[in-house]
Amino acid sequence: MENELNLVALAQHFSDEDKAREFLEKLRWPDGPVCPHCGVVDNAYRLEPTTKSKKDTHVRKGVWKCGGCREQFTVTVGTIFADSHIPLSKWLLAFHLLCASKKGISAHQLHRMLKLTYRSAWFMAHRIRYAMSQEPLSSKLQGIIEVDETYVGGRFRHYIPRATKPGQRPQDQRNPVENKAAVVSVLQRGGRVQSQHVQRVTADNLRTIVHQMVDEDAHVMTDSATVLKGALLKRKHSQVNHREKEYARYENGVCISTNTIEGYFATLKRSINGVYHQVGKQHLHRYLTEFDFRYNSRKEKDGDRTLLAIKGVGGKRLMLRDSIGNKQVQ
Ligand SMILES: [Zn+2]
Repeated sequence: MENELNLVALAQHFSDEDKAREFLEKLRWPDGPVCPHCGVVDNAYRLEPTTKSKKDTHVRKGVWKCGGCREQFTVTVGTIFADSHIPLSKWLLAFHLLCASKKGISAHQLHRMLKLTYRSAWFMAHRIRYAMSQEPLSSKLQGIIEVDETYVGGRFRHYIPRATKPGQRPQDQRNPVENKAAVVSVLQRGGRVQSQHVQRVTADNLRTIVHQMVDEDAHVMTDSATVLKGALLKRKHSQVNHREKEYARYENGVCISTNTIEGYFATLKRSINGVYHQVGKQHLHRYLTEFDFRYNSRKEKDGDRTLLAIKGVGGKRLMLRDSIGNKQVQ
């Protein structure tokens, strides 16, 4: 079953809520049910659902009782599904759609395809992105590292290219990219990528990011932006000069280029422009999580990528207010 998880399989096997729950239980608890209250593994028993007529003893389906602490729980306690009124079968379909669509899928499309309100679909997509967030790297990135920055979002519509009023100095003009959000990505060639939204791209910011994520001995490659040069003074660092139309060259058999990360940015920007249209700056980090996740699991089949994302649901809860406000919960 797991080898052939695709939309057809999902639709056939998990249209039924009980089957969807069983599937999730098997995936999250391969060694038997884990009590979210005390952590005991495989020492719980299923409570049989009772009818509503027996007033106080009504039990929903899928409830377990822990043999250790005597507390009750279900497979969704403490996960991104907690307190959701959306059927699990729709959640699983949404996971698959988001994992299998190379450029992502908009909340509007989820809303139409899964018969949900737009608001539910939007919130659901954000929760799934949260499930895709990965643990901080246990070891730093090594080998050949490409670092680059890009800007997403709209330019000022009424950008005036030159100072038009008398006495206006060039520095008084608004920068056309001022409205855009800056993204810095660090990519290990043949390996993983990690992106972050930064307020401003400065040598200090970049130095911190590179220091946190990149091994001392790694060979860092960038384009010729001066800010990148300043951030990488003490590193083994090579640049390609895009202004001179140099995109790749060979030095001692090593290809000096930033083409891999440029390719990653190309997908990111095409998706943000073409699928999501507009991404609020306060939510950008979640979209970056989604793109990083898909890139980092690019060698997996769609079904396996979906399973990987679903496995990330535990220990994460995201309240609507956290998602709407500027507060970041990570
Ligand atoms: Zn327990």
